[in-house]
Amino acid sequence: MNLFAIFGDPITHSKSPLMHNNAFIKLGENACYNRIRLEDGERLKETFLSLGLQGANITVPHKEKAYEQADQVEGIATTIQAVNTYIYQEGKVIAYNTDAPGFYQSIQSFGTLQSILILGAGGTAKAVAAICKEKGIKTTVLNRSASRLPFFETLGCTCHTWEDFEVHPFDLVVNTTSAGLKDDSLPAPEETLEQILNQSSNAMDAIYGKQTPFLQKAESKGIPNKDGHDMLLYQGVIAFELFTQKRHSREQITQFMQQGLSL
Ligand code: NDP
Repeated sequence: MNLFAIFGDPITHSKSPLMHNNAFIKLGENACYNRIRLEDGERLKETFLSLGLQGANITVPHKEKAYEQADQVEGIATTIQAVNTYIYQEGKVIAYNTDAPGFYQSIQSFGTLQSILILGAGGTAKAVAAICKEKGIKTTVLNRSASRLPFFETLGCTCHTWEDFEVHPFDLVVNTTSAGLKDDSLPAPEETLEQILNQSSNAMDAIYGKQTPFLQKAESKGIPNKDGHDMLLYQGVIAFELFTQKRHSREQITQFMQQGLSL
């Protein structure tokens, strides 16, 4: 049997085991996916190897450490410098970032987008910005403080803090901060956010499973919006394709992972 797992801390809330195990069962894979709480990120690769895992996902707070420890980093993960997927192949740990393509897949429902405003400048924002730049979308980043902005400036994004931002229209505004996750806070000052939403065609929150105050505002203004459910689903689908070396169709994987998510 091939063994897989997700590493993070905390990890009890993770939906990934439900998604992956449902797809493994329904697609006839002899595989099992567990969750592992790992406090010390320095021990990630060592733990992955000692458990004899075929692949893994990595979540908060270990994505940067996972990048540093990988033997080989593939694709857009080299730009993001954070990874959420490990594959064991020919004695090496190969690392990928599926958050970025997962996000891009999730925004296809909004139609063609030429400009995006990213609220926040953390790990999720890096993945979102990297894929948007790669796809030729004009990308602006708005963060509460300046210290995390140099990464995005190097990427070629337009960057602002709350102090120097002048509102203009965007095709999509996406919240990648944790504001609204466990509280009722907004990802930017209320007045600024009102102006942003008044001039935005679509809104999305990376947070999933709840309507955040940010999404409530978008909804009340009649702006098409969605939470991070599809992003979560598609990062999982793309990781599953890597785990199973594309033996199954994306449609089938998506169907069974979606089913797993609602269990
Ligand atoms: P990080 O901790 O890396 O990012 C934090 C960022 O948010 C920083 O830029 C910080 O600003 C800003 N921030 C935090 N709190 C506030 C606040 N109250 N008001 C304004 N700005 C704030 O977080 P992650 O990137 O790891 O995760 C962000 C969110 O994305 C989480 O809620 C997570 O659940 C979600 N997520 C969803 C995924 C999905 O598949 N749907 C995948 C991954 C994450 P500053 O720099 O000033 O401190």
